[in-house]
Amino acid sequence: MGATSCELRVYASLNDFLPRAARQRVLSRPVTAAQTAKDVVEAAGIPHTEVDLILVDGEPVGFDHRLGGGERIAVYPRFETLPLPAGVNLAPADRADERFVADVHLGRQARWLRLLGVDTWYRSDADDEELARVSVAETRTLLTRDVGLLKRGSVRRGYWVRATRPRAQVMEVLRRFPLGPAAVPFSRCLVCNGVLEPVAKERVAGRVPPRSFAAFDEYRRCPGCARVYWSGAHHDPLVELVGELLDSVATVGSPGAEGSP
Ligand SMILES: [Zn+2]
Repeated sequence: MGATSCELRVYASLNDFLPRAARQRVLSRPVTAAQTAKDVVEAAGIPHTEVDLILVDGEPVGFDHRLGGGERIAVYPRFETLPLPAGVNLAPADRADERFVADVHLGRQARWLRLLGVDTWYRSDADDEELARVSVAETRTLLTRDVGLLKRGSVRRGYWVRATRPRAQVMEVLRRFPLGPAAVPFSRCLVCNGVLEPVAKERVAGRVPPRSFAAFDEYRRCPGCARVYWSGAHHDPLVELVGELLDSVATVGSPGAEGSP
């Protein structure tokens, strides 16, 4: 039996994945025997992790809905203002304390998320297999600019970072995933993501430059890698950076933050 086709229309931010000439248009896409809605959507370039709703001929369907050809398929990303009923929404529910795994190209961004207190797994030598495994095993949202990584069948939580510059990328992630209550700035190790613990000053003698040791009394240590942090270490650019990032979240991420009494 020969290949047939279907009509595909993708909405809003999902157009980011299409070639410019194909955006905001009804596309004719090939369907072969036994292909699912997910197959056709991903073949068009859109990773399933970005999709919250698929309608086939007006009816909501799951990713594994089989196509026969001739259908009209409409594909939608996350609705910002209109929550979908649970049975219809294809995306896993957001966590109140969203956790991330950042791919190897997002090292600086991972560090900045940790600076804000966001739980972010990152290793400079992780391969795609390991990133996918960590995402699934620890219910972490996989942050990447690699669309192919998000098309892996095992990955359920993922986000394709649109921006290309590190600071814009972090702000984009914070807008999409507002900070949870567990995100306390300066509470995590920037190097290994460990949650810092207070440590008595006398126990860090010799591990801190003498000038800092003389100037500061409060220290925290990472239980993961034993690095010692003190307030002086976070001064200047990092404090400013945290302020800027939090400002951007406060004005964009929380409805009602502006104009409330
Ligand atoms: Zn550490």
